Amino acid sequence: MHLGDKEGLDRGRRYLRPVARLQLPDEPDLVHLAMYEWLPMFEAWATGPALCGRSTSQGPLPEGTEVTCRSCVDYQPKYQTALDLQAGLRRVPPVSGASAQERLLQQVQMAVKGAGLKRRWIAERLHVSDKHLSQLLTGRASMTLNWAEQILRVCGLELVVKVRPQDGGHL
Ligand SMILES: [Zn+2]
Repeated sequence: MHLGDKEGLDRGRRYLRPVARLQLPDEPDLVHLAMYEWLPMFEAWATGPALCGRSTSQGPLPEGTEVTCRSCVDYQPKYQTALDLQAGLRRVPPVSGASAQERLLQQVQMAVKGAGLKRRWIAERLHVSDKHLSQLLTGRASMTLNWAEQILRVCGLELVVKVRPQDGGHL
């Protein structure tokens, strides 16, 4: 039930995952694609119906399983764009008056969310535990410039440090 958490998925986001067909005689033998999300009501990660509209077996197949349903594959880009957009819209606008430390943390949190990478994958690359990475990303451990730089690098991003006049204008 908490498989998604173990995979380092974000409960606030939805993912696309390959799913198995229903084991019924008249079901075409295809691997479909479905939305995978955390359902707070059931306290569980669950897959929905296939993008093509067919009912499917509950639970995702391992990532990387080839999706053989043409309709699901055709719908995929549309859904993926919507999900990315949604993830972007969930971004919290920077709080004015926030300290540089707060803004640094916020920027790194947004970048990690936006990159859509699993936390565990990021943690492995940084040679830290999932727990420590979580602590860094939630502000329970201090997000130093050095950590921020390393985390962002794994996400394919670069940290830029800037100084400007206090009214927010450009130098
Ligand atoms: Zn399908």
